[in-house]
Amino acid sequence: MEQQDIIDSCQLLKDTESQFHQLFNRQGKPVLHDNNILRANIYASREDYVKYVTAHFDVPSDNGGMYLEGLPHIHNNSAEYVAYLRDGRVWNLNHEFVHYLDGRFNTYGDYCSAPHDNHAGPEYCPEPAPEPPYLIWWGEGLGEYVAHMNNNPSALKLAANKTYKLSELFYNNSANWNTDRIYRWGYLAVRYMMEQQHNKVENMLIHLRRGDYGRYQKVVKDWGTSMDDDFDAWLETTPAP
Ligand SMILES: [Zn+2]
Repeated sequence: MEQQDIIDSCQLLKDTESQFHQLFNRQGKPVLHDNNILRANIYASREDYVKYVTAHFDVPSDNGGMYLEGLPHIHNNSAEYVAYLRDGRVWNLNHEFVHYLDGRFNTYGDYCSAPHDNHAGPEYCPEPAPEPPYLIWWGEGLGEYVAHMNNNPSALKLAANKTYKLSELFYNNSANWNTDRIYRWGYLAVRYMMEQQHNKVENMLIHLRRGDYGRYQKVVKDWGTSMDDDFDAWLETTPAP
């Protein structure tokens, strides 16, 4: 990387971090037993990434970068961000960095502690949670929300279609995974919850921060379809790109 690339990338991370703390006000207060420090591993090109990343980190290479939380309860555990340069910039840098911040300040335990439904890389969780809702809607939606805030034309362009009810998005999983649903509609769901239902989010976060994922699932189930109409109305008022 050129010196300027490094300066720009660090600035992007600092801006993302300060944005995150403005939203959640947890600076200096990571969840219990989280010792994670983050190491960023940037390959010079996509070609190098595909060639080396599996050997170096035991992760799939068919993606635009990944975040690996590892085992945060272990002292000096190094969470790893793996990515590559594309057009002189680190691809997906701030989205993946939000996963780190979310894992450190919002969700207790390692990646596999929260409800999930697959064995896929990078973490290859051994035991899928028996039933939904999982945490995919939140994790991926938050990554997009903090990374883009109000400036997300590709998501906002979809809002008018009202493709999904909010209650469906809470049930995002790896079987119904597609880019629009997980990232763009995930963004809209999280943005709506952060802007319009902040008390509900704070209540949910109490359980996530304690690692009480059974309670988390109960909270989401209790929400049910109660916010669907309001979400639809909000989609109409969301500023078009
Ligand atoms: Zn992500």
